[in-house]
Amino acid sequence: SKREGFATVPDTTWRDVGALSAIREELEMAICEPIKNPERFRKVGITAATGVLLWGPPGCGKTLLAKAVAAESKANFISVKGPELLNKYVGESERALRQVFMRARSSVPCVIFFDEIDALIPKRSTELHEASARVVNTLLTELDGLSMREGIYLIAATNRPEMIDEAMLRPGRLETLLYVELPKPEERVDILKALIRQRGIISPELAEIGRRDVCKDFSGADLESLLRKAGQHALKRRSDVVEELDFVEAARTIRPSVGDIKKYEK
Ligand code: ATP
Repeated sequence: SKREGFATVPDTTWRDVGALSAIREELEMAICEPIKNPERFRKVGITAATGVLLWGPPGCGKTLLAKAVAAESKANFISVKGPELLNKYVGESERALRQVFMRARSSVPCVIFFDEIDALIPKRSTELHEASARVVNTLLTELDGLSMREGIYLIAATNRPEMIDEAMLRPGRLETLLYVELPKPEERVDILKALIRQRGIISPELAEIGRRDVCKDFSGADLESLLRKAGQHALKRRSDVVEELDFVEAARTIRPSVGDIKKYEK
């Protein structure tokens, strides 16, 4: 079942993730390795599971990374969107939140992915009604109770880390902050290669288009859209083979979805 808030094992692999190799290494150390080898960590005195906050512009692979981490650790995956949890009656959000952790406990090892977590745990300084404060406290209580032995790991994602309650970022909570940035020209090629490989029908050399200026500032999500539009362009000229000109023409019609990158920079 792909229902929100329920455990599944995703089928995303590291091969599906283009570029982002430094982040992958960090995630392997923070989550995959402890799941596979808790004893190694215990021996050097590490017993607490650390939470990871992925932040940066939209469409650059945060969700993809979280799924790959779970799949590559053979762990269950529970995905929750901050705004959806909040959209409940008074008292319901805390209950829903506790239920997420209860579900995780009954399907360990488990990676919980909180997307758009800024909605769930806004800064206390921003005008915060009581209900919201209770959600923050519920989450803190759940997090502080996690140990590595339990096999529950938290990955959160946000476009706006400055909006998050600082109490969440303390040691033992969302301790590891990883910036998932807009890909550079080389990295766009790598992402296109991964996307093309998944589809298995387009010539891999065409990924080189990613290096060019027509793809300037494209996110991973934009590159996925590029592939779709290139396919459509090929069909329009009554061909069933996607060629370079289809990519070039398609790229011209796409506006980078991350408009003002300064909004998301470190
Ligand atoms: P948001 O902040 O909007 O939730 P996100 O950072 O979680 O965005 P994803 O949902 O992971 O972004 O990416 C959207 C789509 O873009 C993915 O399904 C994938 O097809 C493609 N994509 C993004 N980044 C990459 C990448 N590094 N490698 C391969 N595909 C990618």
